[in-house]
Amino acid sequence: MNAQEAIDAWTEFQRRISVGAYEERSFEHHETGTWPADGVEESVANLETWAAKQGLEFCWSWDTHTWSLEPIEATLVDCPYCHGAHYTGQVCPLMPRILEDETPEDWMIRTPKAL
Ligand SMILES: [Zn+2]
Repeated sequence: MNAQEAIDAWTEFQRRISVGAYEERSFEHHETGTWPADGVEESVANLETWAAKQGLEFCWSWDTHTWSLEPIEATLVDCPYCHGAHYTGQVCPLMPRILEDETPEDWMIRTPKAL
């Protein structure tokens, strides 16, 4: 997949989402780690992951009404674990670790968002 193909796919999925022509991921889907059968939200998540691996994110331009891929800006985010701030993508050294037999979903339920 090249950048233009990714943008084209992203644009179409965002169009479907904006008009509600997709199946929303339910609580049960989150619980079981599955996705709705139409695959819209799963594809969006996959595209986000694909872009992030290259240090990019999808950005909407109000001027041209188009999506583009832009470098992820280094933004400082407040940290609930050390009450400091980190750049996006950085992992706080105080963040509780995921146990060996734990899924990320279980970890998120167990881990308090703010200490
Ligand atoms: Zn921190």
